[in-house]
Amino acid sequence: MEDDKIGVFVCTGYGIADALDVDALCKVVTEECGVGFCKTVESCEGPGLAGILEFVESEELGKVVVAGISARRFEGHVFPAGVVVEHVALREHVVWCQPPGEEDTQMLAEDYLRMALAKIRKVSAPEPFHPEEEIDKSVLVVGGGITGLTAALEVAKTGYDVHLVEKADRLGGWLAKQHRSVPTKPPYRDLEDTGVDALVAEVEGHSRIQVHTSSVTGSISGAPGLFDVTLASATNGEPGDSFRVGAIVQATGWRPKDPRETLPYGQVEDVVRSIDLEEMVKNRGTITRPSDGKEVKSIAFLQNGGAPAQADHSYCSSICSLTALKQALYLREGDTEAKAYIFYEFMKTPGHYEDFYRRVQEDPGVFLTRGDVTDVTRDDDGGLVVTARHTMQGEDIQVKVDLVVLATGMEPNAADGEAIRALADAKRKAETGDTEEQRQAAAENVEALRQHEGTAILNLDYRQGPDLPALANGFPDSHFICFPYETRRTGIYAAGAVRQPMDGVGSREDATGAALKAIQCVEMTARGEAVHPRAGDESYPEFFLQRCTQCKRCTEECPFGVLNEDEKGTPLLQATRCRRCGVCMGACPERIVSFKDYSVDIVASMIKAVEVPDEDEEKPRILALLCENDAYPALDLVGQHRLRMNPFVRFIPVRCLGSVNSVWITEAISAGYDGVVLIGCKYGDDYQCHFIKGSELAVARGENIREKLQQMAMENERVEIHELQISDYEQLPKIFDDFAEVIETYGMNPFKGM
Ligand code: SF4
Ligand code: SF4
Repeated sequence: MEDDKIGVFVCTGYGIADALDVDALCKVVTEECGVGFCKTVESCEGPGLAGILEFVESEELGKVVVAGISARRFEGHVFPAGVVVEHVALREHVVWCQPPGEEDTQMLAEDYLRMALAKIRKVSAPEPFHPEEEIDKSVLVVGGGITGLTAALEVAKTGYDVHLVEKADRLGGWLAKQHRSVPTKPPYRDLEDTGVDALVAEVEGHSRIQVHTSSVTGSISGAPGLFDVTLASATNGEPGDSFRVGAIVQATGWRPKDPRETLPYGQVEDVVRSIDLEEMVKNRGTITRPSDGKEVKSIAFLQNGGAPAQADHSYCSSICSLTALKQALYLREGDTEAKAYIFYEFMKTPGHYEDFYRRVQEDPGVFLTRGDVTDVTRDDDGGLVVTARHTMQGEDIQVKVDLVVLATGMEPNAADGEAIRALADAKRKAETGDTEEQRQAAAENVEALRQHEGTAILNLDYRQGPDLPALANGFPDSHFICFPYETRRTGIYAAGAVRQPMDGVGSREDATGAALKAIQCVEMTARGEAVHPRAGDESYPEFFLQRCTQCKRCTEECPFGVLNEDEKGTPLLQATRCRRCGVCMGACPERIVSFKDYSVDIVASMIKAVEVPDEDEEKPRILALLCENDAYPALDLVGQHRLRMNPFVRFIPVRCLGSVNSVWITEAISAGYDGVVLIGCKYGDDYQCHFIKGSELAVARGENIREKLQQMAMENERVEIHELQISDYEQLPKIFDDFAEVIETYGMNPFKGM
């Protein structure tokens, strides 16, 4: 194989030869671009692909352009290792969305070939990253509840070693504190044994699992395949065992929301939380009143904490309804004369739990009603009176009970390193602020941030903070649509109730998913490949540090905390943490970050390869940089649905909108393009950006682009940024038709032909 020998295969099937002048395309390759090898093939799948592969071998091609079907429709990695392949989607991006036989259609296809050749000339085959030290394939599981126990077993049964760390002196977590579980098997009517003893025994007896109870993670440094963990005593903080692991599952579960602010918990005796009742039944087998030890004959279960509670806790805890139904049966099974009253706003019993709900409804001693509880007071003979309004009876009611049980909201046992740092900063300002006003504002901020205090769990030795970054409600960030478990710290997977509220069944499923992710991570890291979402990518960023100005933009903008820095601020790549998004490449003002197959220079060459018509030809050119995760695949769908696309647009996929370096935009304008459109994923707290904040960064960097446009005396309107999810593919043509109208109002780019 000759590394730089290029071969181009132009497919004539799929209607391509009917719509395009294929001979003219081959001339662009051979005569204009000077590539000696260009063949037409009838298909680029099946036998056609086999023929291409024969040529690759016989002609010793090192770089191959296949102009036919979209890369996304291609039959996987069939080319020999080391051969660089570039696909031109003549079918989806030209033939299926342009009228056949027209000049503009032909120009579009020719430009795509020019761009592909410009790219492949500069690309070299990525070489997988292998650190000097051997990759460790064992897994650390933090948290010994149902999720952690299940994850540890799943990993161990697959043949990998596990360290399981639990802060309590015994395994089991909340599961061990439960008296019974809600039914998980048909006919979904009867309460079940929790199964915790058997689960713990299996874990403790497994030869591949090393259990560390009464321990916490004192510190974790390193990167996937190379995490160095030092445990600490959960009681006195003394350092404990040290070991290396390849990946981590954080299964640290949840903590109860303190209901003190919204209901009379702590003010009126005999008002307890559902976890208190569970513990009482588990430990004593009976239900008695805390105030006087009297046997409880009636309980009111309050599921709705009232409006303030909802404002404070806007998400569903997912198991509260089931817990109330279960605990009502504890009371009824212990005393057939006893009465349970369940006041709820929404009764949430998904799936087969509906059968369990019906079984409880059949019980004549359980009274269920929707309603807002407005008051809980003590009456003269020591009982409690619950007042509720807006009930299903249509009137306000009062019931007298022995005990009131409050639903327990679930909050994640997670921590946000950024928030912890913000808290430290706010505390400092509260003491040292210049003015009383500043100190007061900082003190208020301290109160707002205090919820994160003392919740550091992993104690990561990362520049970006000691724990997984969290989203709005404190749950570790994890892409809720496309890849649950993945977090912003590569190789660390959140599972179970720390990720989102869930029941035991969900926790077990989650544990299995996270266990698989951890195994994938250590295996792919050992092969030198990226994990999700660029799974299998062997490229990684290289920094030409001689020209680094230590501006720290790459370090600060990397969404995954990949870059440490030395004392001068020079970025230090922890390559096995890297997700290969290219955000650092987009951030670097010196343009010194590049991948073997993706760089500022490669994309700039593609941009410049397009033949821009002169102003008087009245054929504008629009550059579109599309995120390859949603927007670029949406372009395939435009073709598949035979939607018409503006023929003047030239599309280039980018790894992430955050990888767009502003120099591409200025180079495009200098080259005579009339406008540039960037399309990325939705951003914000409910983001869909596969690299967390890439599209948000692109918007933030817009100011930089506007400045450059002003320096060139060009209108800001010549650059637009859009968000698009793949299911909105039909909006793509309209985005460009509208943009073409905008361009028309401003006229052709005066840089054309210069
Ligand atoms: S920004 Fe992306 S490519 Fe760059 S170091 Fe971070 S994860 Fe890797
Ligand atoms: S962005 Fe570029 S110049 Fe700035 S610290 Fe990173 S590598 Fe150096």
